[in-house]
Amino acid sequence: MSDSQPSLVLASRNRKKSVELAELLAPHRILVVSVAEFPAMHEVVEDGDTFAANAVKKACETAARIGRWVLAEDSGLCVDALGGAPGVYSARYSDPGATDERNNAKLLVELADVPDERRTAHYVCHVSIADPTGRLRLSIEETCRGRIARESHGTAGFGYDPYFLIPEYHATFGELGSAVKHAISHRARALRRLIPELVNLLRSEPSVG
Ligand code: IMP
Repeated sequence: MSDSQPSLVLASRNRKKSVELAELLAPHRILVVSVAEFPAMHEVVEDGDTFAANAVKKACETAARIGRWVLAEDSGLCVDALGGAPGVYSARYSDPGATDERNNAKLLVELADVPDERRTAHYVCHVSIADPTGRLRLSIEETCRGRIARESHGTAGFGYDPYFLIPEYHATFGELGSAVKHAISHRARALRRLIPELVNLLRSEPSVG
């Protein structure tokens, strides 16, 4: 770590999610390092039944193992007409080896008979920060409300974005692109709330390495 730029390890192996997180942190002069650069770090099993449980576990287990400040994030899509599903199972909704295409196909089938006005949903993002001893220091959850479209629109973003309509914009995150997503998404909102305290922590208690 340099004196002027504190560093933070991102405990995510999801490339597109990591890019979004890194872009959101970049203006705050926080150097982001991927957990992939620590070969000794095993994959943390996400077996919690809440976003918070998974994010906290990932942050603390990773930090304790590698001795660095760590940011972990657990996120997903909750659809009202499906009782909150896929929720914490968003990444593997269709099957254990799911792809975005198969997850979206399953979502459309499940919602086939649901009328437009009942296709409401929200994304959730829980972000947790652990210090180099593995102790949880910050944990914040935010949401972003929308509706599930019947057809794919746009190719920006990832996951469910081509189907996630933002009513105020009459467009999906797939169409809106990163500038709008970085302003209003669940991930952007969570980081905006967390960043002032995170910057203070990183500056007052710099990590090793
Ligand atoms: P995680 O890696 O277990 O947190 O998986 C999160 C999953 O939720 C992703 O694989 C996506 O399917 C979905 N998801 C979370 N955030 C977003 C988003 O911003 N856009 C689209 N899908 C998302």
